[in-house]
This record gives sequence, C-alpha cells and structure tokens, in this order.
Amino acid sequence: MAVFINDTCINCGACIDECPVEAIVDEDDNPTGEELYYVYPDKCVECVDHHDEPACATSCPTEGCITWDMPYTAEHKDFFAGANYVDGKNFVMEDADIEQPFVESISNEARVNRENVVD
Ligand code: SF4
Ligand code: SF4
Repeated sequence: MAVFINDTCINCGACIDECPVEAIVDEDDNPTGEELYYVYPDKCVECVDHHDEPACATSCPTEGCITWDMPYTAEHKDFFAGANYVDGKNFVMEDADIEQPFVESISNEARVNRENVVD
C-alpha cells in the first residue's frame, strides 16, 4: 500500500485533496464500512515523484493517524489478500500485475509495524 489511515482519524478531510492520485476516500466511500477515511493500496504511490513526503500525512492534524504500510507489489500480494490485510478488512489484491511505486528507504519492518509516516 503504501500508507494506512488508522482509527484515530477524525474525518476532518484535510488529506483527501492533497493526494495526487486520488487514492483516498472519505467515510462514506470507505470499502471497509468503517467511519474513517481510507487509502486504496492499489492506487497509493506514496507520493513518489509528486512530493518529498506523503502529502496526506503531512496535512493530517492527528498525530499517528497515517502510518506506513507494505509496498503494493506482487511480492507482497499475500499481505493484501483477504484476512491477512489490515486487521481483517478484506481488501483483496485482485491483480498482482499492478504494482505501485514506494519509498525504498522505508524498511519492511517499519511498514509491518505501521510506524508513523510523520514523527
Ligand atoms: S501517500 Fe501520497 S499517494 Fe498515497 S494516499 Fe497519501 S497523498 Fe495519496
Ligand atoms: S487528515 Fe487525518 S484525520 Fe483528517 S481525514 Fe485525513 S486521515 Fe483522517
């Protein structure tokens, strides 16, 4: 994915228009049904070639709300499949041929641990 919005989201809307690839949806369109904003992992490019840092995270007023997630690549297909993904949210990586750019300096450990994008 890329980045992940957790349940500390206050639905303020500050992030959605900052995304250069329209990867973010609001609570009404969240496919998990949660009352939170949501990042589609198959669309997020981690702002590579757009911004120095993920623009959603730098615009978010809620500390720790937006964290790293795994790169959206075929290598991590299992991570995004079914219950393996985001605490049972059931996002399914439908097409393993679709891959998105990611920030290579962020370790997989930091991603698995969902470390904050902005400290
Ligand atoms: S990291 Fe960039 S591309 Fe990904 S959701 Fe945030 S603003 Fe959009
Ligand atoms: S800016 Fe942060 S708190 Fe506001 S809607 Fe986006 S993720 Fe939620």
